[in-house]
Amino acid sequence: MYLSDYHIHTNNSFDSNETMTVMCEQAIVEGIDEICFTEHFSVKEGSKSNGFIDFSKYFSEINACRDIFKGKITMKMGIEIGEPFEDEYKLSCELTKLPFDFLLGSVHNIGFGGISRYIEGRDNKEIWDAYFKELSKLSSSQYVDVVAHLDLMKRYSYDSHGNYSYEYYRDVIAEVLRGIIKNDKGIEVNTSGLRSSVKETMPSISVLKLYKEIGGEIVTIGSDAHVKGDVGRDIRYAVNMLSELGFKYLYTYHQRQPIAKKI
Ligand SMILES: [Zn+2]
Ligand SMILES: [Zn+2]
Repeated sequence: MYLSDYHIHTNNSFDSNETMTVMCEQAIVEGIDEICFTEHFSVKEGSKSNGFIDFSKYFSEINACRDIFKGKITMKMGIEIGEPFEDEYKLSCELTKLPFDFLLGSVHNIGFGGISRYIEGRDNKEIWDAYFKELSKLSSSQYVDVVAHLDLMKRYSYDSHGNYSYEYYRDVIAEVLRGIIKNDKGIEVNTSGLRSSVKETMPSISVLKLYKEIGGEIVTIGSDAHVKGDVGRDIRYAVNMLSELGFKYLYTYHQRQPIAKKI
């Protein structure tokens, strides 16, 4: 079984203190074959990830780790872009010529703040309507290869609002997934939801089934680790889940081209 963890943060992200070396060592201990670093990045004013990363430091750290861990693990250079649709021109200025293998697209903010602030004082329908509306913009961004944690908001809203109704949002989600498929992008199975109180992958198994039904093929798997102990968490579980749903491949990326790995 080929094991890849395509969603890892280090201290190049504003919300992690781990060094890249430590994350690499842990991935090797966990038996992971390939990892991709996906540090937070955003051009949105006011976002915590705006202006945080130093790309030359990030790239030189990856190159140094490639030397240190040569022959033990494959390492890819990625980034997790928050709300790339907010300012694609600014993104193009910042990202052009940077040699990324993989671009994850995320929605972490709605309106002028983070999701956790947005959901305060609003009801379940209002927050999920708003979230999926933002999410639908990711599928047409040229700065997205794979849509990260498709129903992420439940990680923040589950305790206060309960889960969302898959049945109610089925058509909305199907429309988002069709856009992703049409634009040759993929989705991620993010295992961090299993570690939160909702105890589900993001997206849920129902969404993954729907994606398969309407012809979705490209899926990456990521732990969304921000600490050493989460590297590789539940990656095997996710591969087995995809296999049971009928997916024959999981995907890795090289220079932004998807590569199928037989499950
Ligand atoms: Zn994220
Ligand atoms: Zn992340």
